[in-house]
Amino acid sequence: MDLNELTIREAHEGLIKKDFSSEELVRACLAQIKDKDRDIHAFISLMEESALEQARAVDEKIRRGEEISFLAGIPLAIKDNIVIKDTISTAGSRILENFRSPYDATVIKKLKEVDAVFLGKANLDEFAMGSSTENSYFGPTRNPRDLERVPGGSSGGSAAAVAADMCLGALGSDAGGSIRQPASFCGVVGLKPTYGRVSRSGLMAMASSLDQIGPISRSVEDMALLLAVIEGKDILDSTSLEPMFPIEPEISANIQNLKIGIAKEYFTKGIDKEVEKNIRNIIKELANRGAKIEEVSLPHTKYALACYYIIMPAEVSANLARYDGIRYGYSVTQNSKLKTQNLFDVYLKSRERGLGNEVRRRIMLGTYTLSAGYYDAYYLQAQKVRTLIKQDFTKVFKKVDCLITPTTPTTAFKLGEKITDPLTMYLSDIYTVSVNLAGLPAISVPCPVRNPDNSGGRETKNAISNGACGQIGKLPVGLQIIGNYFREDQILKLAKAVESI
Ligand code: GLN
Repeated sequence: MDLNELTIREAHEGLIKKDFSSEELVRACLAQIKDKDRDIHAFISLMEESALEQARAVDEKIRRGEEISFLAGIPLAIKDNIVIKDTISTAGSRILENFRSPYDATVIKKLKEVDAVFLGKANLDEFAMGSSTENSYFGPTRNPRDLERVPGGSSGGSAAAVAADMCLGALGSDAGGSIRQPASFCGVVGLKPTYGRVSRSGLMAMASSLDQIGPISRSVEDMALLLAVIEGKDILDSTSLEPMFPIEPEISANIQNLKIGIAKEYFTKGIDKEVEKNIRNIIKELANRGAKIEEVSLPHTKYALACYYIIMPAEVSANLARYDGIRYGYSVTQNSKLKTQNLFDVYLKSRERGLGNEVRRRIMLGTYTLSAGYYDAYYLQAQKVRTLIKQDFTKVFKKVDCLITPTTPTTAFKLGEKITDPLTMYLSDIYTVSVNLAGLPAISVPCPVRNPDNSGGRETKNAISNGACGQIGKLPVGLQIIGNYFREDQILKLAKAVESI
């Protein structure tokens, strides 16, 4: 096994046993990036020199016999809407093509404190708006499992980098599924923490009441190691909170008597039958291992997508007002060939050229729904529906500990398949947005793969027809686990049980 294929836990053990150095680990990842990223395009920019410097500093600590943390010397990818001091952070947008951040995001500060290594900035849909990473100004990312297909989005670069063994873990952000959906499409683990568990300071705001930073990893145990470092109350984010249930590095897979709810609203028309079979099969397995399965109902689920696509653009229109061609980022005034009449003209032309179609579409939609005369009919109404969606979950979590749903209705789709039809693209978020509206935590974990390579694929086919394979063709299926507020500990336990099947 190559070093870049290790889990964080395995790499940590190798480092402390001095089987290899952090520099070797980082070089193995960089070599993989050189080899694969021309095709996949998971990264917008690399931080090769500083990564090697960070790695050598950790090697020095190990040589001196100092104790190191789980993440010390571990190479990570960071979504390019999370800022790192003195480093270009584009958010996948032309308007920030040359923007160098003067400060570190809180999560970056925390990762620096434990000596994690930053390999580079991962590709994303512009300002995290999209479900395929095709909306990046820097070009799309491809799915490492099948280069004709999208990796999901908006954290497609982060998920693809982990799946293609270019790094050992990554950070993404999730306002409506942007961590879980790409994790599901690429066959890795992705967690959207409880709203407030992780500070948003230094995350370029898309929709502030929905955004949350979270990790992407190869294993559930690695997820716990990453979350434990980045979580916690932060003075720079007034919505952040101290987590009530701490995360332990060792996770038990004992789900004896754990109550799992299955909401019928997540298994209706629109779901791919093979995806459904895979999920239902895992649920059966979990019941065999002692979990209690109960059918539940979340009746307002059917309004979630409509509600999300009112609230999110409204917040987008307010948050993106700061990119005005004056304060920072791209400005038409830098181009002497472009004539402008007045200040308003500078705003208009800078935003027209600096921002892509999807971003401008959402700014316009959001501005419309917030405008006088429409505010009550759209925005206020959506906020009321949001409360009903939240109440559905509150009721259900009185009865069960966790919910299991598919992460997405289908496996990864082809590049170009949905890009011209925004509404179809929005439908891929149908199972993920409710969680953000309610502020709950949720993980996507790959359905475990069985009989993957038996007899030239024949066995795999049989297994699929039994709904027992864990992937469809070569494409992974993601299983979503939703937990109650701050119950990431329970989510991780159940995810670990799924992983161990
Ligand atoms: N795909 C969703 C959207 O386009 C989710 C975005 C996100 O979570 N950042 O809005």
